[in-house]
Order: sequence, then structure tokens, then C-alpha cells
Amino acid sequence: MLGKMMHKPLTISSLIEHAGRYHGNTTVTSVETSGEVVHSNWGEIEANARKLSAALKRLGIKAGERCGTIAWNNRRHLEIYFGVSGGGMICHTINPRLKPEQLIYIINHAEDQVLFIDATFVPAAGKLKEHLKTLKHIVLMGPRDEAAAEAVPGILFYDELLAAEGDDNSWPDLDENTPSSLCYTSGTTGNPKGVQYTHRTTVLHSMGGNQPDGLAISARDTVMAVVPMFHVNAWGVPYIAAAVGAKLVLPGPHLDGESLVKLIDGERVTLALGVPTIWMGLLQALEKTGSKAESLKRTVVGGSALPTVMIPTFRDKYGVELIHAWGMTETSPLGTLNNLLQKHDNLSVEEKGKIREGQGRPPYGVELRIVDEAGKRLPEDGETQGELQIRGHWIIDTYFGHDTSALTMDGWFDTGDVATIDADGYMIIRDRSKDIIKSGGEWISTVELEDIAMSHPKVAQAAAIAARHPKWDERPVVIAVRSDESLTEEELLAHYEGKVASWQIPDRVVFTDDLPLGGTGKVLKNKLRESFGDILLDA
Ligand code: ADP
Repeated sequence: MLGKMMHKPLTISSLIEHAGRYHGNTTVTSVETSGEVVHSNWGEIEANARKLSAALKRLGIKAGERCGTIAWNNRRHLEIYFGVSGGGMICHTINPRLKPEQLIYIINHAEDQVLFIDATFVPAAGKLKEHLKTLKHIVLMGPRDEAAAEAVPGILFYDELLAAEGDDNSWPDLDENTPSSLCYTSGTTGNPKGVQYTHRTTVLHSMGGNQPDGLAISARDTVMAVVPMFHVNAWGVPYIAAAVGAKLVLPGPHLDGESLVKLIDGERVTLALGVPTIWMGLLQALEKTGSKAESLKRTVVGGSALPTVMIPTFRDKYGVELIHAWGMTETSPLGTLNNLLQKHDNLSVEEKGKIREGQGRPPYGVELRIVDEAGKRLPEDGETQGELQIRGHWIIDTYFGHDTSALTMDGWFDTGDVATIDADGYMIIRDRSKDIIKSGGEWISTVELEDIAMSHPKVAQAAAIAARHPKWDERPVVIAVRSDESLTEEELLAHYEGKVASWQIPDRVVFTDDLPLGGTGKVLKNKLRESFGDILLDA
């Protein structure tokens, strides 16, 4: 009666080994810090990743120790992803747009031993160095560079480290529960907290998130990860691309619309992923350059609320399917993706578009529920709003360095988002609980108010905030950036009529030149509340 299957641990090295062996000649395109476009392939990435893992051991870095990166999306960063984790160390990706105090806090908190940096960050590294208590080495991601050697004494050079290693290193055997990478939340709602992923959670996230109704990336795709590699592991795209052997495009430091259009057309990108602000820039650049982005079939948009006009714009003008997704640093990040079901086949294009505005359904591997303030489960009727909670194979339990679990008593993670879920499991984020406007005991969704503002042709960007109010506690105020200076406050307020209940129409509109953005391209509403939160009291 005895029988047994092999136990092969779910490791990150197994992903890159597969890519090297079965997709070795498939291209990885990388835009370097210099702007140069370089073509490599999965075979070279795998060989270099193995050399890097050996080089780190030679430098005395031990299993379980953290290696930080402050870098753009490029070829060496990809090798670091696999080389550090595959070698048993922990790849700690750091958001370069953080303030120096936050960078120092995060690097010291993670106790990083090595810091890999792109050339862009040499001056910053020179200044930070004396504050970084545990750091043993700074490595410039490139060949020897005399100016950098002078600016940061003792700096090492990535290409030299690799050149000193042979081709004969193999990946160490690791337990699949070994920690593999570390990412801090972007801190838009408080102090950054570290989320430590394991090999197992990373591999399961790659498999679960890439099912046919998920990202559905295949060997026939050319995938461009515009989402930064320091933002929740670029949503898992590097691992998924390795697992399926997709051609991968890493766009480097320039993420403006025109640079992206050039790359999409030049590399024949079929699928691109990023936050809404990136796609706003891309759509403007497509208009301007006249490119039709012919190769592009799908875009995945997530990270903050989707301006819903993007769905018909991409669909009707460029033949691109927009897939809306939701997730968090704490959820690896994929929590939901929006694809249609068989029963939607006979709906009109507009009806399908309407369903696709929401954040979608969970893939195998995660489960969602909504609860009230007492933690009681709420009905999934598409109407009732509640606190969104999640559990699953790639969801956080305890923050890095904390000793108590972040979960509820019954084992769910509270996302801090307010959502509805319908009978088919389609989830819609109504707001973040910290952002939602509480007007005389009723809730008003900032997401909905922003979406209406952005559907006005003269509005480029908009954010809605809760402003303090003497009678109603809070009332909505919209802060907008105009694309046409002739737009008046009255005109934009009139645009709300008939679209929301009259008591939900904002009290004021304020026009500004730009909105404050955080490190991952999200609007910093706490900053806006500081600037405009008292505007109704002053009046
Ligand atoms: P931070 O919480 O510091 O902003 P994350 O990148 O982890 O960092 O952000 C996760 C949050 O982003 C979610 O809790 C949610 O509020 C928001 N978010 C992510 N995707 C979407 C989406 N598609 N629509 C609306 N909000 C989203």
C-alpha cells in the first residue's frame, strides 16, 4: 500500500533554472541607466544569477541575511532577484523615491549587509553611507566606474564581482519556507512596515496569479513590467515571466509616456503592467505621437483606483483589453483580477466594460470576505460595504521584525480597504477606510467622486478628500488638475448632477497645478488633507 511522490521544494531557483534550461534563448530587454537598450536572454540571466550568488558568499554574506537594492527595472536587478534569493539570502527591494530619513530607517531596520545601487543613486549612497549601521558593501550595478569609486570609497562593481566567478556553481538546496525577499509598504498611511515573502509563497503566487483567468502570461507574450521592481516584486512579473519563459522588457528609469510608446513599438510588447498614473501618461503620448501601439493586446492596471474612462479608451482607440487588478504589499500582491465569466458572453461591450470597472475576483489561492466594525461577516450582495479581509497561500501573517501576528483572531488579514462583494465574488473597492468621507454619519466614496471628475474632458487628474465641516463633520472637496484652463468650479460641480445623490456632490472644487504623488505613483491624500482639510472651516 505504500506509495510516495517526490518532494521538490517550491524555490525561486527552480523558476530561473527552468527559464535557463527551456527558454534560454528568449530575450530579456533592459533599458540601462544610461538610456542604452540592451538585449540579454534567460540563459544569461540564469548564469549571471548563479555567479552572483557565489560572489555574495565569497563576500561573506550568509544565508538569511538581507541584501538591499535601490535600482530601476533592468537586467542586473533581475539577476539580483534570482541570485540573492536563489542563494538563500533575502532580496530587499527599496523604493528610491523615499526621503533620506525613510531610506535610513528601512535599511537599518532590515539590517541590510549589502546594497546594490544603480548609477543614478551613487550621490545618495555617498550621503547615506555613514548612517547605515549594518552595511558591509555597496555594489554599483555596472562595470568599474572611477567617478563612483571616488565618490563612494570602497564601492564594489557588479560586473567585476561576477567576472571573478566560474560557471560551475550550482544552486543550494533550500527549504521552501525559507524567506526569499522583503518589501516595505509604501507608507502612504503610516510608517513603512516590512513584508517578508518566502520561496513557497512566491512560487505559489506566480502559479496562482498567472492562471488563464489571471495574468495569463505565456511564452508567446512580450511582457513589459512598468510597475517598479521595488514595488511588491513588480507584482510577481519577473518570477512569472521566468516560469513561463515570456520575453521580458524592463524599461529602466524613464517611465514617461513617450519613452514607453517607443519601447512598446520597438520591442513589440503584448502585455504591460503598471499603476493608473503611468497609463494616463501613455495615453497622452499615444495621442501625441500618433502611435497605435499595434502589438499591445492587454494592460494590467492596479495599485490605486482606476479612472474608468481608461477601459473604453484603450479598447476603442487601440484595441487593448484592460485588466483591472487589486492587491497590496501584504498580499504579494495579487488579490483579485478582473476577467469575465462564461455567463457574460452575451452581454454588450458596454455591459462587459461596466463589470470590468471593478477590481475583480480572487484567483485560486486567496479568499475574501467583508465584515462590519465588530468583525461580523456581511452579505455579499454587491451593495453592502464593509472592511475587506483576505487570507490565502501568499498573504502576510506577521510583519518583519514584529513579534505579534497582524491577523484577526480567526486568521484573516484586514486590508484597511472598504469594499463590496457580489454573489459571483466580484469585489469593488469603495475606498480606503482612512480616506472615506463620513458626512453626517453617511459614507461618501472618494474613489467614485474622483472617477466622475476624471470623466470630465477638461480634467487631467483629480483627488477627493474629506474636509472638516462644522455641521456634517466631514464634507467632500475635490482637488483637480485641469487639462483645459477654461474649466470653472461651477462647471465641474454641475458635472456631478445626476451621477451621485445630491448630498454626495462635493462642496468645493479647488484647482492646483499638480497632485502630490508618493513613491509608487499614488496620490498622497494625507498631504492634500493637510493643505485643504480646513478649507470649509475657513469659509
Ligand atoms: P500602501 O498601502 O503604502 O499604499 P500598497 O502598494 O501595499 O502600499 O497599497 C495597497 C493599497 O492600494 C490597497 O490597500 C488599496 O487601498 C490600494 N489599491 C491597490 N490596487 C487598487 C485598485 N485596483 N483599486 C483601488 N485601490 C487599489
